[in-house]
Amino acid sequence: MTAVPEHEIETGVQRHARHQGMEAGGVLDQVERGFAGNPAGMQYFYDLFRDVYCNGVKPHPDKQTIGTMCVQIPDEIIHAAGGVPVRMCNGFYTDEELGSEFMPAKSCSLVKASLGMLKSQTNPYSAGLKTIVNPTTCDQKKKAAGMMREMGYQVYDMELPPVKESEEGREYWRRSVRKFTQHIGKLTGKKVTRRGLKQTIQQVGRAQLAYHRLNELRKHTPIPILGKDIFMVTNAYFFDDLARWTEATEALCEEIEARVVQGYNAAGRRSPRIVFTGSPPVFPNLKLPLMIEQADGVIVADETCSSNRLLNDMVSVDEWFMYDMVDAVADRYLKSCTCPIFTMNNDRIRRLVELYRTFNADGIIYQAFAGCSVYEMEQRSVAKAMEKEEIPMLYIETDYSPSQSGQLSTRVEAFIESLKARRRQS
Ligand code: SF4
Ligand code: SF4
Repeated sequence: MTAVPEHEIETGVQRHARHQGMEAGGVLDQVERGFAGNPAGMQYFYDLFRDVYCNGVKPHPDKQTIGTMCVQIPDEIIHAAGGVPVRMCNGFYTDEELGSEFMPAKSCSLVKASLGMLKSQTNPYSAGLKTIVNPTTCDQKKKAAGMMREMGYQVYDMELPPVKESEEGREYWRRSVRKFTQHIGKLTGKKVTRRGLKQTIQQVGRAQLAYHRLNELRKHTPIPILGKDIFMVTNAYFFDDLARWTEATEALCEEIEARVVQGYNAAGRRSPRIVFTGSPPVFPNLKLPLMIEQADGVIVADETCSSNRLLNDMVSVDEWFMYDMVDAVADRYLKSCTCPIFTMNNDRIRRLVELYRTFNADGIIYQAFAGCSVYEMEQRSVAKAMEKEEIPMLYIETDYSPSQSGQLSTRVEAFIESLKARRRQS
């Protein structure tokens, strides 16, 4: 028997990266080739995901990346300190499987996958990462901090209050953001200055305006762009260069505006319009959004932290002084958060009803990752409120595993058919 040369032996890390590439490639094929009429402007985003996840291209080879574990971490402040924020929330089943080896079986898929990714070091934008900012949001994220430290990462705990309506909660969070603003400069070696912060608030603001412009176009009937593409655009924001992402989104807006003028329909003639809510879809776990649109539904709006909540609310500054700006950044992140980690979350119900009405939707689909107790528990109050408003809602508990797909798609198809029947009767 001839021995395999050493350079040809695949290491565990290489195998993991290859499996990741195959998983990403499979989903990209579905997103790109499984639907007709993709906007030309989406090619930038499809190529970006392919480059990063299938070809191992590092998006920020010469910059200092700072990992963020949740949408609550203020990007503006990291940019102002010369860092590049990259979101560590991860959607790979390959990484979830790795995370399952050292995390409790009942943990949420997103946390298992994020820790699996950090352990494997195969993600091109997290390889070489040293610092992670972890907010004290859900229990699983809180406890993940210890595991990340054991893996050798430097973890900064950013304290978030459990109540967001009270003055005490607001002040607690403002203090936390002020402390972070001072600390981040020590990590990156660049102090956050008044000029620097003003500039990054404006740069992130321009990205948010581009997102708003795109999102507003989804109010149109017929719908000019599918929801799966919107998730690709917003998920790219997790790690893309801020200026490049903004330009690509602005170019996409121009194309979609032209589609609106032409009366272009990206969906079917009777596709029910869906609002998506709950545990966040993160690439490549677009299982449920793709299932909805393959079953002739169309996602016209969402209330998730991997998409709408990431970019919807802008920082509102009265005075461009350092402390005013830092407090304005803090307020923007706390007020707009509708994650069920807070004790009271009536804002989420208000937001869902508003999205349903303003985007002329037919129903809501609520995703909860198995093991995410907060989204699972909040399902009851949301379902009750939607029933009162006579808004049809489908609740789906799922994870990253491809095994339940058949059963899930039957439920999704039945719900979509019921929405079509309801519309016919009205
Ligand atoms: S689900 Fe909540 S805690 Fe988890 S990343 Fe999103 S906002 Fe943060
Ligand atoms: S889905 Fe639930 S458990 Fe998972 S990170 Fe978000 S809040 Fe935490």
